[in-house]
Amino acid sequence: MGAVPADLLDVVERHGRAVAAGDNAAVLADFRPDRVGQLIASARPPEAMQASEVLSVEPGPGALFTAHIRYRAREDDAVFRSRWTRIGDRWLVTQVRNVPDTPPPPSSVGPSDDGLDGPHWAGLAREELRIQHCPRCGTWIWSPQPLCPSCHHTQLEWPAVEPVGTVYSWTRTWQPFHPSVSGHLPYVVVAVELPAAGNRRLLGALLAADGADVRIGRRVEAVFDSVLRWRLEDS
Ligand SMILES: [Zn+2]
Repeated sequence: MGAVPADLLDVVERHGRAVAAGDNAAVLADFRPDRVGQLIASARPPEAMQASEVLSVEPGPGALFTAHIRYRAREDDAVFRSRWTRIGDRWLVTQVRNVPDTPPPPSSVGPSDDGLDGPHWAGLAREELRIQHCPRCGTWIWSPQPLCPSCHHTQLEWPAVEPVGTVYSWTRTWQPFHPSVSGHLPYVVVAVELPAAGNRRLLGALLAADGADVRIGRRVEAVFDSVLRWRLEDS
């Protein structure tokens, strides 16, 4: 634990005890005031916490310091990673999350009520990526349609395509826009362009996204996890 200020070690120890004891006033006082709302929902504590154990405090990244604290609970333990910064004369939490990182639950799970995307979901269950395709004019169609938007053919097919693509766009979300994402922040959503399907684009959460070097154009591969997730190749 070299290069870590002794007063920070004390603060982290005390913070861990306050979290385990459910002393919300003390916990909130350790949060950066301008991020309190975000930080409250960023980590999900286990129920019936009994004790805390500081696993490590290390310098970095940048000017921050990183602490890992295990919270012992009656059922499941949890490990939180907090990142600390010095503001004025105080050490304050500027980021916190559960580790390991897990992607948030999907905002919607199909098939949709109209059943148009049924073959896509049936494909996912068999670990296949199936995209709608018009056999008459060759158009790839996403999102699913009742007829081909190009030639109006109604007998559309659902071939399985190679489940790899490239990142067309991406965003890392730090804000708890919905209660269900608490404990999964931050997470990364990618828009993936599929060269095997006419460069149609699909959205999905990125696995192993914590600290990942996500860039436009990077190759990703599908991971079938009852829903479609993506993983950076070579990661
Ligand atoms: Zn067509």
